[in-house]
Amino acid sequence: MPELGEFDLIRRFFERADGPHRALLGIGDDCALLAAPQEGALAVSTDMLVEGRHFFPDMDPAALGHKALAVNLSDLAAMGARPIGFTLALALPDANASWLAGFSAGLLALADAHACELIGGDTTRGPLTISITVFGEVPPALALRRDGARPDDDIWVSGSLGGAAWAVAERLERLPIGQHALPQVPAPVDATRRDAAWQRLERPDPRVALGLALRGVASAAIDLSDGLVGDLGHVLSRSGAALQRLQTIERVASPLSLGATLDWSATPCHPVLQGLPIERQRSLALAGGDDYELLFCAPQACHATIDAIGVRLGLALTRIGRIDPQPGVRLLDDNHQPIAFNVRSFDHFR
Ligand code: ADP
Ligand code: MG
Repeated sequence: MPELGEFDLIRRFFERADGPHRALLGIGDDCALLAAPQEGALAVSTDMLVEGRHFFPDMDPAALGHKALAVNLSDLAAMGARPIGFTLALALPDANASWLAGFSAGLLALADAHACELIGGDTTRGPLTISITVFGEVPPALALRRDGARPDDDIWVSGSLGGAAWAVAERLERLPIGQHALPQVPAPVDATRRDAAWQRLERPDPRVALGLALRGVASAAIDLSDGLVGDLGHVLSRSGAALQRLQTIERVASPLSLGATLDWSATPCHPVLQGLPIERQRSLALAGGDDYELLFCAPQACHATIDAIGVRLGLALTRIGRIDPQPGVRLLDDNHQPIAFNVRSFDHFR
């Protein structure tokens, strides 16, 4: 079978026969045309997935298509933005039709589920790399930024933590990769939990509906891609800096800093972590990446509203701690005693 050409490939796997729905002009011209967003601001984010770095080389192509878009939709969710469309830049080692069929099916199924239209992209030969830029809309005053957390806000997290990191650890620990060697994960308890953990890694569910529901409720939000402690650190540093600026303008005599205290017993660990040594549970839940849950802050007065949002969406929302004026992150055990912990979230260049 002759190899697919670039334009056949785009037409066959990425262009919709019935044309664009939301875009004024979609795939096939020099640019796509999007109407100016009705909600006021365009929310834009790019995420890149590189084989061997962000996913295992044998990953199912449909799951990969799903995940490539999911991690981008997760950024819109974390901003409280409503998806509009996305572009796809693809480097492929070869034009393998069955791989492309799986990839585009997984990608476009998630796109349809979120009414987020593929409006263009670029295709080239090269080591397998997927880069998506997603566009959404949000009223700028309601965007869930990272810099709005204030002392005494509650810290919340959606869903459960550590499932995706467990799956990565299971896979790596079965391989003789010295550099990545991690402490042993004991044999998994049951197949259902194991499958659920792999689902978290390979088919994360972007919390778009939650992000929309949190408009006007959350003071700050971030999606958990690199691990809870590190991602919370981003909220604290941006919110702390914003608070400093505000206090300088207002000439506050004794300005407050920002930190957080987390309650380990409240942390919603993924069921697959049950039975692991406690230190391992902590490192997977607090420093493991790839969960794509939302971490958000909100004034204590919003507690009942947030509970109601969780019920309406059928999504667990758990209060895991509080923002306080003491810099740094503290972790408390069941007896409210500080637990020494040393977790570092993922950083590509460390
Ligand atoms: P140009 O050379 O003008 O950048 P291309 O020849 O790269 O255009 O692409 C032709 C059309 O196909 C453009 O509309 C582009 O947006 C679209 N396209 C290219 N690759 C992809 C892809 N992987 N997914 C979706 N659309 C794509
Ligand atoms: Mg091009």
